[in-house]
Parts: sequence; structure tokens; C-alpha cells
Amino acid sequence: MAKLELIKGDITKLKVDAIVNAANSLLQGGGGVDGAIHRAAGPGLLAECKTLGGCPVGEAKITSGYNLLAKFVIHTVGPIWHGGGNNEEHLLAGCYKNSLGIADNLKLKSMAFPNISTGVYRFPKELAADIAIKQVQDFTKKAEFLKQIIFVAFDEENYEIYREKLKS
Ligand code: ADP
Repeated sequence: MAKLELIKGDITKLKVDAIVNAANSLLQGGGGVDGAIHRAAGPGLLAECKTLGGCPVGEAKITSGYNLLAKFVIHTVGPIWHGGGNNEEHLLAGCYKNSLGIADNLKLKSMAFPNISTGVYRFPKELAADIAIKQVQDFTKKAEFLKQIIFVAFDEENYEIYREKLKS
């Protein structure tokens, strides 16, 4: 059974098998955590991303980690929040589920998630945390290889939300 952890900080600094990127559907880099990951990984990451043909919302694709300490980057595309009537919750759950599935299928032991869609995509943070925690907790029960799954909160607000929710 995989262990679930919460830390506050910069996901690009983590030495885990895979970090998850909150990418956009073109997979061509962007702002926020996406920009930070591309800056830290170096130009090889963008070159590989350009060969992937983009990624649909809710799905995920994996690349090498290049100059990162992480061996791999799993790029997933979170939904933009449009009020909740556009399948946003289901799509966000898919980001977590599909990223976990890719990692476990490749026999990775450790991975880290940012708070997908809670930046410029404006997904409500409490609801996003409920979805993220549910998907990860469900997966920990069936994971075959993953031993460590880390939530990385970059902002204080997300950190406090996760801390409260993970207490119970
Ligand atoms: P999205 O477009 O999915 O909303 P953002 O990158 O704008 O993606 O934000 C997603 C989350 O990533 C936000 O909670 C933001 O605080 C966080 N974030 C930004 N930079 C980093 C980083 N270096 N490490 C971890 N999380 C980060």
C-alpha cells in the first residue's frame, strides 16, 4: 500500500521517480508550475513534448525528466473552471487517476502532484483538494508498485486546505 504525504514547496526540487506537470493541452510549456518545470528540466523537455501531439483534458502523457532530479515528468491537462457545469470535476479526477495509472504501470515507486487546475485555471481549491485526495486514496489501495505519493502545495492556502483534510 502506498503512503500519502503533503509538503509545501517547489515540485521541481523533488527527487522522486516522477513529478506531475499541470500542463496545457498543447504541451508546449506555459506559466505557473508548467513554466517552472520546463525551466528546471531544460530544452530537451519541450523538444520531447512537441513530439507527443498534445494531450486531451483529463488525460496524461509521460516524458523523461531531463535536468530535473525526477526521472520522469507526467504531463496532465487539468480542466479550466467554468462554473462546474462542464464536467470539470470528472475531468480533474481523470488527471489524477490517469497520472497514477501511468506511474504504476511503469513500476514507478514515488511520484509528486502539484495542485492541478487551482492556479490560472481557477478550479475552487477546496473542491480540487477533495477530488485529488479521493483519487489518490482510492489508488493507494490498489497500487502495485507505487509506495510514495506526495501532494506538493506551493501556496499557503492549498497547504492549509490539504493539511486539514488529510488530518481526518
Ligand atoms: P493550472 O493552469 O492547472 O491552474 P498553475 O500552474 O497555474 O496550473 O497552478 C497549479 C498549481 O501549481 C497552483 O496551486 C500553483 O500554486 C502551483 N505551483 C506553481 N508553481 C509551482 C511549483 N514550482 N511547484 C509546485 N506547485 C507550483
